[in-house]
Amino acid sequence: MKRFIWLLLAALWSVPASAQGKLNVVTTTEDLAAIAREVGGDRVTVEAIAKGYQDPHFVEAKPSFILKLQKADILVVVGRELEIGWLPPLIQQSRNAKVQPGGEGYLDASLHASILEIPAGQVTRAMGDVHPQGNPHYWLDPENGKKIAKDIADKFSERRNNDRAVFEKNLADFAAKVDAGEKRWLADLAPYKGTKVVTYHRSFPNFAERFGLNIIGYVEPKPGIPPSPQHTLDLIAEMKRQNVKLVLIEPYFDSKTPNAIGRGTGADVVVLPPSVGGVKETADYVALFDYDVKLLVDAIKRTGAK
Ligand SMILES: [Zn+2]
Repeated sequence: MKRFIWLLLAALWSVPASAQGKLNVVTTTEDLAAIAREVGGDRVTVEAIAKGYQDPHFVEAKPSFILKLQKADILVVVGRELEIGWLPPLIQQSRNAKVQPGGEGYLDASLHASILEIPAGQVTRAMGDVHPQGNPHYWLDPENGKKIAKDIADKFSERRNNDRAVFEKNLADFAAKVDAGEKRWLADLAPYKGTKVVTYHRSFPNFAERFGLNIIGYVEPKPGIPPSPQHTLDLIAEMKRQNVKLVLIEPYFDSKTPNAIGRGTGADVVVLPPSVGGVKETADYVALFDYDVKLLVDAIKRTGAK
């Protein structure tokens, strides 16, 4: 409790740091942090709020997050309402004008990314949908990764014009790494194009579209809604009908229902991290895809999934 009060007081009274020198960058997720580090190099310090092994829709707000935001020059968010359940009060309580939406240091990384599943009609929260502005897991397409990096480089240059050449070189280096990786990942998965899978949450549509997976259903009846017995039975029936051999789950979901589905269908349940830092092998953006693609290829070979 003492510590909590101290943190609150510190948040209220400390002076914004780093008016000069390194840009103090805060990102909502480790994926954005990883990209920001590549682009910013030694000219920035970067901290993520949510850990890669957490569900980014539901993050427990802590006083330490307010402190981070209070000192930030730049805040990069995934946007598309991914963080709507926890971020707005933290930004507000930081009282840092720079990182308020529309502020000079605020960057919504989704602005130039290719966004899937944008709802056609009116969407209400009563539907229980946590994706009202299209699918916010767009960083799982490496082409979007490059677009995110470009926007971050532009924002950094805007705030530190003297370092523009550095950011642009870092951006080009990052894009080259991603391009080389993408060639590798596409080649590795090319023989398995159209492989049918089920995923827990709608975390992987961008990934599936890029790499040719066919997602035929979800463990969740709707994004953000826990599995129900009827939906699970329907899903099992559909998986049997289509002979689906793989259930992909994010590390932060309960494996009870996926395991039951696996037993009911003979499918393998594979934990596929959707974020940098989800497991120790996914330390940066390129490593995330290297890890996930290898995991998938191994699982497809093992199960004979088609
Ligand atoms: Zn989601």
